[in-house]
Amino acid sequence: MAPTGASYGDDSPIAAFASAPGKSALTLIRCSGPGALELAASVFSAKDKLLQARGNTVIHGWIVSPGNDKIDEVLVSAFRAPKSYTGEDSLDISCHGGTATGNGVMAALRAAGFRDALPGEFTFRAFMNGKLDLTRCESVMELVSARTETGRRNAVNRLSGALENEINVVKKKLVEVLAGAEIFLDYSEDEIGIDAEEDAGRLPGRRLAEEALARLHRLAESWRRERIYQEGILAVIAGRPNAGKSSLFNLLIREDRSIVTEIPGTTRDWIEAWVSIEGIPVRLVDTAGLRDSPDPVEAIGVERSRAMLENAELVLYLIDGADGVTDEDSAFIGELAARQNSRPLPCIPIWNKTDVAPMPQARQTAAGHLLGISAKTGGGVAELTASIATAIGKISGQPETAGTPQPAIGTTRQKNLVEAAVSALEEALTLGEREEPLDLIAPLLRDAVNLLGEITGEVSTADILEEMFGKFCVGK
Ligand code: GDP
Repeated sequence: MAPTGASYGDDSPIAAFASAPGKSALTLIRCSGPGALELAASVFSAKDKLLQARGNTVIHGWIVSPGNDKIDEVLVSAFRAPKSYTGEDSLDISCHGGTATGNGVMAALRAAGFRDALPGEFTFRAFMNGKLDLTRCESVMELVSARTETGRRNAVNRLSGALENEINVVKKKLVEVLAGAEIFLDYSEDEIGIDAEEDAGRLPGRRLAEEALARLHRLAESWRRERIYQEGILAVIAGRPNAGKSSLFNLLIREDRSIVTEIPGTTRDWIEAWVSIEGIPVRLVDTAGLRDSPDPVEAIGVERSRAMLENAELVLYLIDGADGVTDEDSAFIGELAARQNSRPLPCIPIWNKTDVAPMPQARQTAAGHLLGISAKTGGGVAELTASIATAIGKISGQPETAGTPQPAIGTTRQKNLVEAAVSALEEALTLGEREEPLDLIAPLLRDAVNLLGEITGEVSTADILEEMFGKFCVGK
């Protein structure tokens, strides 16, 4: 709940839950702001210890009400400005878990003078106090939302400053080009004695600008893959009734113990679960069997399955090996393959039940080679997950590179700014090639520099920040 009258701009002492609500061993409450230690001491049993605490120390005691009733036994981690997450005096209070305890401690803190923190306000303060640039702030949120190991690794890469550094490298190059251009604007070529014609076109430092552009292009490209790691892809299992869709679905979700959600629809509708396939979050959907059914309820299920297929990014099409490839199968696969012209929709045709029905000689289909599996015994499933990963690699347009992750974009905000900087820079280079005057080119370079500054937060406005931090969770 946002406290009335509170705003990101004020620096009043704030408090919020930093752990999820509900029954748990511990609950973490965070406090920050000038005088935070003194305020907390007013509701803490070991007052003097807290008042005299050095930074980065832990103090044991009780949170007490203003009337001196014990509320909970706690451990307080004290931090002194500027050596804290927010850069302010701050404390993390570990109290016992459970709703009543946490609420009691929060009530005491409010009575002491803390106000409830707004969403993302701790990180906002960390940004304002120069502890984190905006890309690192955003990575904190990405880390909290990461669904897979790779998602976590990419977010940590940004938290360590990989994107910030890359943006700064590119920006430095552009500032150099801009400075060069501005010298030309202020003085004539004769005066400075530089032969601008050495560069192709009229833009001095053109090579540097092109290098910057190439790096920005690489960053912009990285988003396709990052988005997939963050949002995942929708993979739909389709096929005739009894082909083994549910068996495959269960097998894939059993193989992957890391899945968190399984949302059942009605039995004739669809079931979905998130699975991690080689680090990529996949929203796996088991659809109702595709067949024309006289049963109106089943017909609705089939209709929904078809709608689900419309949004799919990958189709796993199962053929019942016991029946072989039927006309219905061929028609469906043909339909998918034909649709690929309007929107590429990778389809993996799968021959199921290899334990009882060996693969046929002719394995070519309109959507590619048949892959043999047995959803019953698990045979061929490793090959299947590998081809799912390859298909996703094709969707994202980049192969997964082993080793240290490259600097990559983590949010749409960053992506939009990189793209805007790319357009400004491309235009500047085009004008340079056409030998247009530098006073037309310089503002475009300046725009590109400012847009990059917005990514890290060097250039920012109050509304951009509020909009951004407002999406965070409270206590972050
Ligand atoms: P769905 O209607 O496409 O979801 O198919 P199910 O997963 O419910 O499977 C239909 C029937 O085929 C069930 O009796 C399964 O036990 C059986 N089945 C599924 N996969 C295999 C397999 O790989 N081998 C064999 N022998 N039977 C299978």
